Amino acid sequence: MKKNIKNYNLEELKEELKSIGEKTFRAEQIFKWLYCENVNSFDEMTNLSLDLRKKLEENYSLGLFKIEKKLESIDGTKKYLFNVQDDEENIIESVLMSYHHGYSICVSSQIGCKMGCTFCASTGIKFARNLESGEIIQQILEIEKDSEIKISNIVFMGIGEPLDNYDNVMNAIRIINNPKGLNIGARHISISTSGIVPKIYDLADQHIGCTLSVSLHSSNNKKRGEMMPINKVYPIEELMKACNYYIEKTNKRISFEYALAKDNNDNLKDAKELAKLLKGMLAHVNLIPINKIELGKYSKSSNENIIKFRDYLNNCGIIATVRRELGSDINAACGQLRRQNLKK
Ligand code: SF4
Repeated sequence: MKKNIKNYNLEELKEELKSIGEKTFRAEQIFKWLYCENVNSFDEMTNLSLDLRKKLEENYSLGLFKIEKKLESIDGTKKYLFNVQDDEENIIESVLMSYHHGYSICVSSQIGCKMGCTFCASTGIKFARNLESGEIIQQILEIEKDSEIKISNIVFMGIGEPLDNYDNVMNAIRIINNPKGLNIGARHISISTSGIVPKIYDLADQHIGCTLSVSLHSSNNKKRGEMMPINKVYPIEELMKACNYYIEKTNKRISFEYALAKDNNDNLKDAKELAKLLKGMLAHVNLIPINKIELGKYSKSSNENIIKFRDYLNNCGIIATVRRELGSDINAACGQLRRQNLKK
């Protein structure tokens, strides 16, 4: 099987080219074709010799996807379902969102997810495998080409737990971040985790400069454990210790995601517990009106409760905002479209 050339970061590609008897400066030329020109074939790399193009064609793939489905919301959000082309069931989702500051893409990091969060559409569908670095990047390239735009922000919040595919995600970030690659600054990249504590420490020590989002959803171990089984492995106390370490090491604010579910975690008592937990921390709370999924047991909080919850936190000095709902008419929450497609 051919190797996906987009799995190599610039340094690795130089080594790879050396190993096939080529000059290392070719790596930068190839990077330009891959990430600036977004080519569909090695043949388009016209400043490489015919001989090298042939060698690349014979030994490597460009890891192109097939667009299985594309849905567009009335608010401009686009949801893509990609077939990664190694198995017809290996389908992933990516979402393109348009903001006043530019285009943002929510990428998947795995085909399926092992975390089992009870509010998530990816739960209950078999985990297939980790995405390779090249497959993470290809989501961006396919969307840039199809929508004829340039992405300026990336969030790892699609299907999968990015910190459960740590090495491939980090390598993808190296390529995304490289000025000769996609040239997207680290502060425009956000990683969202369900709370894999040891990897939060690794991320803090690695100084990559990305934004960290932690899915909290409750500050109470019992409730959080019901929503997120990971809490039984890494309870809130351990998670907060890791978050404080991250802040101390990086001096960066953590964004805590809090999906408000009616009569579950959305009353004032919950807001009080949350305010107590985050008091004094360099943190921001992102309140998310929960998306109702098929068979899911949670439903969306009333607008009144959402506003009360936000105001309570703000009055306690904790910055909290309500996330704007994008693409609700096309089931833009992660995993929903893939779930429907697999059922078919
Ligand atoms: S919310 Fe994220 S971590 Fe939890 S099951 Fe869904 S994809 Fe996995």
